[in-house]
Parts: sequence; C-alpha cells; structure tokens
Amino acid sequence: MERGIKARAMMLVEPKHFTLTELPTQPVDRGGWLAVEATGISGADIQVWKGEARDVVYPLVPGHEVVGRIATEGPTIPFPIGTRVVVEPRIRCGVCHRCKQSLATCVRRRPSNSYGFIPSIEPPGLWGGLAEYLFIDPDARLHPLTDDVPAEVSTFVHPLAAGHTWAVELPELKTGENVLILGPGPRGLACLIAAKAAGAGWVGVTGLAHDRDRLELAKRLGADLTINVEKEDVGGAIAEAVGRRPDIIVDVTSDDPEAVFTALDLVRSGGRVILASTKGNRAFHFLSDVLVAKQLTIRGAMGASSVGYQWATRQIEIDPRIDDLVSHQFPLSEASRALQAAAGLLGREELISVAVTF
Ligand SMILES: [Zn+2]
Repeated sequence: MERGIKARAMMLVEPKHFTLTELPTQPVDRGGWLAVEATGISGADIQVWKGEARDVVYPLVPGHEVVGRIATEGPTIPFPIGTRVVVEPRIRCGVCHRCKQSLATCVRRRPSNSYGFIPSIEPPGLWGGLAEYLFIDPDARLHPLTDDVPAEVSTFVHPLAAGHTWAVELPELKTGENVLILGPGPRGLACLIAAKAAGAGWVGVTGLAHDRDRLELAKRLGADLTINVEKEDVGGAIAEAVGRRPDIIVDVTSDDPEAVFTALDLVRSGGRVILASTKGNRAFHFLSDVLVAKQLTIRGAMGASSVGYQWATRQIEIDPRIDDLVSHQFPLSEASRALQAAAGLLGREELISVAVTF
C-alpha cells in the first residue's frame, strides 16, 4: 500500500453518534496494516454503540469481527500481502499466566485487549473493523481464509469459532451427547452447527416468539427440536421428544437471567452448563443447593479460542448452509443502520446476523 494512506473510519464519538472521519495509516516498525473487507456486528458491538458496555472510552472505531487482506509486509506479519485472513478479536501476548490458561484477558494488555473496544486515542487509532484499514498488532492472531467464501458470509467465522469453543471445546462434548442451546441468535446457531459437526446425538434450540425465523433456520441447520419458550414448557417438550435430560446446556440468550435457572433445572445430574451471555449486571436469587445435589459443572465463557478459529475457518469453507446466516449487509457509510438492524430496531423478522462490507 502507499505510505501514509488515509483510511475512512466510522468513529463512535459518543454512544449512538458516529462520525465519518479519515485517519492516517502511518508506517509502523512492528505490526502492519489490514485492508478490511467485511466486519460482522455482534451483541457486544450493540452494547458499545448504546453506551452499555463497561469500561469503554470514546471515541473509538467499533467492530471486532473482522475479515480482510494483508496490506503490508513486516517481521511480525506471518502471511504475504494480499492474503485473506480472519483476525481474532483478542490481542494476547501468549506467554503471561492468563494467556497460558487460554483466558480472554491478557496481563500485558490492559485495560482493553480486544479490537473494537480500544480507544482511538491509543496510537495508531485504527483498532476497529468499521474502517477501511485495521492496525495489525504484533500480538494479533491471524487465520488464513479461502477466497471462495463471499465477504459478508466470511464474517460468520467469528460466531462460528465461539460456537465451537462454547458447545464443543469447553464442555468437552463427546459423540452422542445431547445439547440444549438457550437462544437462537448467531452464536446460538453457531453452537448448533458446531455441536452437530462434533457428533452430538441430539441438539435442541430455544427462542422467543419473535425468533420464529431464527428457529426455522435452526431446523434447517439440523436442530432436532426447536422450542418457543413463550408458548411451550421447555422441560416438557424435551421429555416428550427425547426422554432424557441434556448432558450439556449452553446459555447464549440475550440478557435473560431466567435462562440460568432453566439451564440448572433441566440439565442432567453430572451435566455441564456453559454460561456465555451476561445479564446486565443484575443480581438474582440463586439456590446453590441444586449444584451440589446434581453435581453440576458450570463454566463461564467469553470469546472464542484459537482452536475455535482454526475449526471455524475450515468449516465455513465446506458448509454452504452458512451463507444463510448473514441476513443483512450494509456499506460503511450506513454503519448506524447496521447497528440498528443488528439491535432489531429495523424489525426482527428475517434478522439473523449483520455485516458491513467494503
Ligand atoms: Zn498475555
């Protein structure tokens, strides 16, 4: 790329207020530049946009589900110019005690180590996917991706990687085990794809009445049962359809404390519960005796592992059904509309997931 080229960037100057700006991509000694091709919009981006995310300093360039092409070479850039890569959101040193345990946060990168959450005041400013160029930090992790996947579809690598981490890797899913996924959002559907691919015996997905299209898609993706929790009793529906309790329950509902109780209540004795969604910092009454009596394992999950990304970059190449999972596509100039769409403010019908493409 030319030296000092300016990148058009959608800067979030305060909650819900984007400004289209230009930021310079100065030459760097370490790291390099990525020409962004597409960026997915996730629930965490919606929180940043609404001003509901904790510890976020504005202004910043949001967007952490990035796919693009290597635009510069350098000692820390592992692929040639032009290589299409998926960028892991979390920038990690790889050697501190947290990184060695595969935790999401890194001791050496505080306060924020995730693309899309780093303030623009931190040089070189381009830390988000809603810009033409993204800074490739020397500690960034990149995964090559085939050119065959359409740009907007390629962003689904990110939820897919999380789905594998949450439904397969963390609960150590074994062939033939039954999995219940609470919430049919992009990550819930990704959990379904990953669990099925890993040989789960039976997979169920729950949702609300307005999730009808997502639940229909879940069926096409191989869900053995979909349950509208506003109409049906989840435990009763599973008892009737399967006759035994799920071995693993993954909570990926959006902001629903009740889902935790549902998971603890319905999982089998000795089962595993993965909690992968936050509850808006709300407290709720919690009876710990059920954990003891049922000898449960509960695990909190945040973000996707590198193993998840390795799996997802291969799966998206071979699974054309994933094309249906990106329902909305917007240009950079319509970033506000992209966020509104992802938040369900432009209608929930037909909404699966949203990408911004360049
Ligand atoms: Zn580290």
